[in-house]
Amino acid sequence: MRFILLSVVVALLSFSLGTRAMEPDWQRLESDSLNTLVDLIKLDTSQPAGNEYLATDYLGKRLKAEGVDFKTFEAKTGRTNIVARIKGNGSKRPLLLLGHTDVVTVEPENWSFDPFGGTVKNGKIFGRGAADDKGIVAVSLEVLLALHRNKVPLDRDVIFLGVADEEGGGGLGITYMVENHFEEIAAEFALNEGGRGSIDPSTGKYVNFSIGTAEKTPRRARLLASGTAGHGSVPTRDNAIGAIARAVARLVDTPLKMELNETTRTFFRRLAETRPEAEASVYRDILKPNPDLATQAKLQDINPAFFSIIRTSVVPTIINGGYQRNVIPSSAGATLDIRALPGADPEQLWEELRAIIDDDSIQIIPMKVTRPAHDPAPLQNDMFRAFEDILTERHPGAVVLPSMLTGATDSAQLRAAGIAAYGFGPGVVLGDNNGIHGNDEYLRVEPYFEYLRLMWLLTNQVAGSH
Ligand SMILES: [Zn+2]
Repeated sequence: MRFILLSVVVALLSFSLGTRAMEPDWQRLESDSLNTLVDLIKLDTSQPAGNEYLATDYLGKRLKAEGVDFKTFEAKTGRTNIVARIKGNGSKRPLLLLGHTDVVTVEPENWSFDPFGGTVKNGKIFGRGAADDKGIVAVSLEVLLALHRNKVPLDRDVIFLGVADEEGGGGLGITYMVENHFEEIAAEFALNEGGRGSIDPSTGKYVNFSIGTAEKTPRRARLLASGTAGHGSVPTRDNAIGAIARAVARLVDTPLKMELNETTRTFFRRLAETRPEAEASVYRDILKPNPDLATQAKLQDINPAFFSIIRTSVVPTIINGGYQRNVIPSSAGATLDIRALPGADPEQLWEELRAIIDDDSIQIIPMKVTRPAHDPAPLQNDMFRAFEDILTERHPGAVVLPSMLTGATDSAQLRAAGIAAYGFGPGVVLGDNNGIHGNDEYLRVEPYFEYLRLMWLLTNQVAGSH
């Protein structure tokens, strides 16, 4: 009887575990992921040259060695994109795992390590691209190879995509792929950079996971003021430098209207549940109808990015005019870095700026848009549920926060093309400055291995046949 009961328990257990991922050879997968990341860092794919072919040659060799077919696509010689696909039974639409192989440039004299050395020291991997974005490329590749090696039965195709030119706006990378080879990457869901776990340094535990579900749309513009040129000894009424200075000051002093969406509402609501009362009450006030500017400004004190995600932000970044101390110039200009909320209408935006500037002599000249406007990815589907299930099961007490990035990633092009793209990456210890786009960029090994596990579990839950 006891034996029978035990068998029933075992059978039940294995039934419930049957819906879980199989266990791959973790030791191999971890060391492969580390080696792949180090190998990728050693390939100098820095912008503006890019030379992403160095990375795609390497990735192609790795895929070929394990018998996975791949294709490469070039918008321009040397700026190569790579796609590999392992087949599912076709009952669901594909899952896309993507990362960018290009990196930003370096100032080597300010580094303590060779930026293209891939030094592993004190539990950290140093090098340009370690955190942005070669760790994600490496893990995406290794997860795909492990699915293939272990012959995991899949309901969906799983596609690996390594793109060029993300740091340049994606023109030769994701935009080129979406516009010219969409059938190669069409998917229901995509996992990309743009989210991460946050680790409490005192406990080593994950306190939350931000999952990128939305991002702002960059819409830069130039302001141009024109006036009468003349001698610096004779004041004029229409001094162009005066006009541009007034316009810029008005824009800085007048934030645009606040607006929440599903992502930011859920973000502040969940954050409030986990933070000390003084901080939580700010989030609760923000969620009430029409909070005043003083309440909104409290967000800026907690985290300047929180003030940015509740509105279209307008930030002057360049101002220019004049060339000689005794000459009144005939024009002066300024550049605005505008980050629009998802769904914001650009025509309405220019109208609002015109009203704030309130000076007909100032022209607003919109600049080229490199990232398309798009709607946020949904919070109710198999992919987001997988994040919630897996992250909270492996890290009880950690909160899953759907997040809106103030910056832009390749997810913009994917979401605009109808793919629900989510940002997720290796965990970061709170208070760390991991040098993304700066000096001594690094990734911690332990959160990197945890990210590998989480990516394996996510991929299995969403794409595996159960
Ligand atoms: Zn990146």
